Amino acid sequence: MQPIVRTFDELNEIVKKNYTNPDINLIREAYVMAENAHQGAVRLTGHPFVSHPVAVACKLAEMKMHLNVVAAGLLHDVVEDTGITLADVEKQFGSDIANLVDSVTKLKNVRYHGADRYVENMRKMFLAMASDVRVIFIKFADRQHNLQTLYAQPKHKQERIAREVLEIYAPIASRLGMGEMKGELEDLAFAYVLPKEYEHIKSIMDTKLREKGVYMSRNIDLTNKLLQEGGIKDFQVHGRVKRLYSLYKKLKRYNNDVTKIYDLIAVRIIVSDVEECYMVLGMLHQKWRPLPGRIKDYVAQPKPNNYQSLHTTVFSEEGQIVEYQIRTLHMHEVDEYGIAAHWRYKDEGGKTNLRDLHWMEELMRLQKELASKKEFLENLEQMKIDVFKDRIFVLTPKGDVIDLPEGATPVDFAYAIHTEIGNKCTSAKINDKMANLDTVLESGQIVEVVTDKNRKSPNADWLKFVKTRQARIKIKDAARAKTKGWLANVIAGSEEKKRK
Ligand code: MN
Repeated sequence: MQPIVRTFDELNEIVKKNYTNPDINLIREAYVMAENAHQGAVRLTGHPFVSHPVAVACKLAEMKMHLNVVAAGLLHDVVEDTGITLADVEKQFGSDIANLVDSVTKLKNVRYHGADRYVENMRKMFLAMASDVRVIFIKFADRQHNLQTLYAQPKHKQERIAREVLEIYAPIASRLGMGEMKGELEDLAFAYVLPKEYEHIKSIMDTKLREKGVYMSRNIDLTNKLLQEGGIKDFQVHGRVKRLYSLYKKLKRYNNDVTKIYDLIAVRIIVSDVEECYMVLGMLHQKWRPLPGRIKDYVAQPKPNNYQSLHTTVFSEEGQIVEYQIRTLHMHEVDEYGIAAHWRYKDEGGKTNLRDLHWMEELMRLQKELASKKEFLENLEQMKIDVFKDRIFVLTPKGDVIDLPEGATPVDFAYAIHTEIGNKCTSAKINDKMANLDTVLESGQIVEVVTDKNRKSPNADWLKFVKTRQARIKIKDAARAKTKGWLANVIAGSEEKKRK
């Protein structure tokens, strides 16, 4: 777990360690702008505000994101919270960094309000609005640090933010294959959303770590020796402790029987290539008897999120049961960073993707390689990537997400909320500014419809620009009813005349 308060010196060290010939000036300049802009501002934790963007930048540098992303991390709150404008950022740092900051700022409108039926829409909107996947990495790092300092927030805010992480952020990290980020976000949020359960699971884990700690480190030594003697050259062996939220979910599936869970603490072996993965598996099985039915070959058959490893569980020394996970360094990086692995800074002079607007397609392409698998198709179905292409997602002033086709107008929005609101709408506000009813809406806008309760029926001219079937049908219905009403009046009128 990273510390809560981080300094520019630390960021400097991380950058120097993780990058070859980094442009330190860029990072320093971004820091100076952030520090000046947030001058005097203090977080609820009592720390100077700038410690927050610095922590975000540190995380991004640890993930080896391109330095533009790290710089954008430093600047991610200046446009929203200070006098600095987007134009200032662009002037000093160029359009790439300015675009990143702009997108992160816009994503702030996405709030989860607890209506389950909107959760999937929220995830979609979140993804659709981040036209560039690097924006999502910044947002994750931002949210992670906010969770670390959540203790200083009022209780209702803690609850909302943590729940939003479990419902929106962590599932997206998971779909992008970012195992490390998903695990960190979930465990941080778990403590706030389900505090009792969190304490319970944590005490189980603490007990197990005390029981097994000495034994596991001896086991790791034995494994090191086994691989050395087996002639494996470059390898790493280390213990991997299961994440608390993931243990919580697994325990629920196993009727809370912790003795049935063998991967509380696992041994992870990282080797150079696929051949060695299988060699090491053979060595382990020669030395220790494997548990039947527990050998899983995710190398030949990766999981839908691209996860690859060999898993086996063996009766180790003194009959202790130990799970092993064997993988190459590449598989390890894909597991930890997922799609972000493809955007990581590479030393080999390979051109890093600076700005990739086609990341959704790229993600699809990566997943298509696994297209024969049923699980994959289900996963794709969940992602509904095709939906992004022609949908937009706008918000009500309360933050509810309304899903509309591209080209939709405030009238479509009004009918999507309620027929009466559509029938009686007279004008609209988009992001608090008055707008015509035929204005084409864009993802992320906050739309408010102004209604006139004396208005009898919609304007037939709206048919010229509405995009949704729903709006079209309702406007026609109303027009028909109006005609009938008029005829009825005429007929009623003539009846009256007769009576006279
Ligand atoms: Mn922030």
